[in-house]
Amino acid sequence: MKEGEMENGGRKKGWNFRPSAELAAPTQITIRGILGTLMSNLDGGDERPRIQLGHGDPSSFPCFRTSPIAEDAVISAVRSAKYNCYSPSVGLLPARRAIAEYLSHDLPYELSPEDVFVTVGCIQAIEVTMAVLAHPGANILLPTPGFPIYEARAAFAGVEARHFDLLPDRNWEVDLDAVKALADENTVAMVIINPGNPCGNVFSYQHLAKIAETAKKLGILVIADEVYDHLTFGSNPFVPMGTFGSVVPVLTLGSISKRWAVPGWRLGWLVATDPHGVLKETKIINAISTYLNASADPATFVQGAIPEILGKTGDDFFKKTTSMLRQTADICYDRIKEIDCVTCPYKPEGSMFVMVKLNLSHLEDIYDDVDFCSKLAKEESVILLPGCAVGLKNWLRITFAIDATSLEDGLGRLKSFCQRHMKKQLKDEKRRIKEKQI
Ligand SMILES: *Cc1c(COP(=O)(O)O)cnc(C)c1O
Repeated sequence: MKEGEMENGGRKKGWNFRPSAELAAPTQITIRGILGTLMSNLDGGDERPRIQLGHGDPSSFPCFRTSPIAEDAVISAVRSAKYNCYSPSVGLLPARRAIAEYLSHDLPYELSPEDVFVTVGCIQAIEVTMAVLAHPGANILLPTPGFPIYEARAAFAGVEARHFDLLPDRNWEVDLDAVKALADENTVAMVIINPGNPCGNVFSYQHLAKIAETAKKLGILVIADEVYDHLTFGSNPFVPMGTFGSVVPVLTLGSISKRWAVPGWRLGWLVATDPHGVLKETKIINAISTYLNASADPATFVQGAIPEILGKTGDDFFKKTTSMLRQTADICYDRIKEIDCVTCPYKPEGSMFVMVKLNLSHLEDIYDDVDFCSKLAKEESVILLPGCAVGLKNWLRITFAIDATSLEDGLGRLKSFCQRHMKKQLKDEKRRIKEKQI
């Protein structure tokens, strides 16, 4: 190094390191980031309890506590002292076998343990999928609205994200014409989330069949995020995308985080639901193993508990969860109908969320969804997720995975907030109509 490049303390001028371009941009929107900002805006002076309708984690509510069978399974696994070791990078064989059996219940063919890779929650399954499919110029089709981890992981992997819409007036079905228009010879896959986050929709068998046919024609893989598997309480039952695995290869992503309400246990899976072995032939399966050889595994004792958790949890636990969600989804839908400034195009039938549209033209001093949520947090201590966090500006995502009393309280406060911020002209009109009726 030349003399002139040194500063006083003997340090080289400037540093050689800098953050990766994908991570340096402060524009990356994440659900956690936005909810964190809203929480920091809360007015400390409000005596009322804070009501969280922005989260996707009901584990802290006593009514959503996981099954004792799951708790006991983990305790026994720890006590057995058999699971203090490192795990094989693809997961413990009994856990892989249990996941294969669990998913095969709903499929027209049998999965084998070799089809299953155990991951650190569904999030790692997303990470692995994006990394494995990345090649120069590759693009992937993602839903709008969607789950922003896909955008983030596609960006880290260097895969271009292209977006198709889910259609609110068609029960949030995939706009398949848009999918066909977006795809080209560099398109590798399309992502569906079913049951849906953030829309609470459940795809019908017929719609899934059309998705499979479309993907087959385009020569692309379907990535099916089924982290809310079986959390359905409407007219459409849950049908796994893997049902159509003989039409088009499917990578199924899931976890115990949502159905068992234990997102902190970090146990998920990435599964080749592909009876013709296309993914093996195209060496995708190899690449998954290679990637997992160089990453962290889920805790071995949680893997050790998986055969009990998946095999022994009784129907009573699942029924209790879905009937609670059915009840709170009803409350949510009914209360929102009574509020002028928001509309809900679709009554949720699955997952834990509903999307509602903000009618900004009815509101006096609200600029957009983020402004709405910040003021709502400040004035009412109610947290909602602004739609921009899931790709739909000026919508809101509301979670109904919360006890019914708190939900009623939160939606009541949402209603008074909307009434307070309604345009004066509309308020006057409403008053006149009311007076006429009297
Ligand atoms: C919660 C969620 C995940 C992440 O699941 P984990 O098992 O907690 O990692 C993935 N996809 C969607 C759509 C989710 O809502």
